[in-house]
Amino acid sequence: MYRVAFIGLGTMGYPMAGHLAKQHETIVWNRTASKAQAHAHQFGSHAVADLKDTTQAEFIFTCLPTSVEVEAIAEQLLPALKPGTVWIDCTSGDPNHSRRIAERLRSVRCDFLDAPVSGGKAGAEAGNLTVMVGGSQQTFNRALPVIQAFAGKVFHVGDVGAGHAVKAVNNMLLAIGLLATAEGLVTLAKQGVDPAIALEVINVSSGRSFASEVHFPERVLTRAFPNTFSLALLAKDARIAVSIAREAYVPVPLMQLAAEMFEMAKRQIGGDVDHTAVVQLIESWAGTQIAPKEGT
Ligand code: NDP
Repeated sequence: MYRVAFIGLGTMGYPMAGHLAKQHETIVWNRTASKAQAHAHQFGSHAVADLKDTTQAEFIFTCLPTSVEVEAIAEQLLPALKPGTVWIDCTSGDPNHSRRIAERLRSVRCDFLDAPVSGGKAGAEAGNLTVMVGGSQQTFNRALPVIQAFAGKVFHVGDVGAGHAVKAVNNMLLAIGLLATAEGLVTLAKQGVDPAIALEVINVSSGRSFASEVHFPERVLTRAFPNTFSLALLAKDARIAVSIAREAYVPVPLMQLAAEMFEMAKRQIGGDVDHTAVVQLIESWAGTQIAPKEGT
């Protein structure tokens, strides 16, 4: 049993910290303090109002919107951190920011792992997230038993920043899958094909993807678009993927276009809706909806 702290009890952090609290002594802090109190009530974690109290832990987790918020909190906590503390950042962050944060932490003899997750709200609640970790082998080995509290699969993918890089590219592939499937289905709708039948075909054929198999049947055809992962957050991931490619002078025209389309969707539809609502941008251009035909 370890003493751990969790900062950021959002859609993902709240259930992840819940799994940690079942196995470890868990301190929780959240900007909106009522969520930390609710967490303590639900999972038996220890809610703290003062951010500095999280430095009592051996392992500090963060799960915040972007690396900007992580860096700000790390700077605030730096003078209070105990040497030997491991900071595990589960934010889908930026590899360059992570390297900078890791360096700052090293100056006070603390270690950093970027450990973004995949699996969404459902995976966080079930405790079977995929975790992609960047950092030294030694720090990874130390943190693995703690990370396993909310993980299905844990991968050590390279040095600091590598986890965030893999996550950004993974989410870019999701973004492209959503956009490509939306374009395909509005085209078929214009041909008079029922999108529900088209999806049945595609999902047993070579054009299938996570978007076509899961997102379109569950979120688009139903017109429910339940907000479990915001469009603004996926737009951010797409931006990170493009920025790390450009940094290496890799031409990525598809990725760049997808990132632009997410920025456009953010402006037209808003960032505070589910990421799958991006298909509404393409629907508006086509003047049609991806919905089952009436009576089917
Ligand atoms: P949410 O928007 O649900 O939660 C964000 C959390 O960050 C909240 O606890 C919020 O506090 C806190 N926060 C926001 N701004 C600040 C700030 N300036 N200072 C301190 N705390 C702050 O996000 P998610 O849980 O959906 O996402 C978190 C990360 O995980 C993101 O990087 C996202 O890309 C990634 N991710 C999300 C997935 C999903 O399906 N949702 C899946 C995989 C990864 P408050 O409660 O006060 O608002």
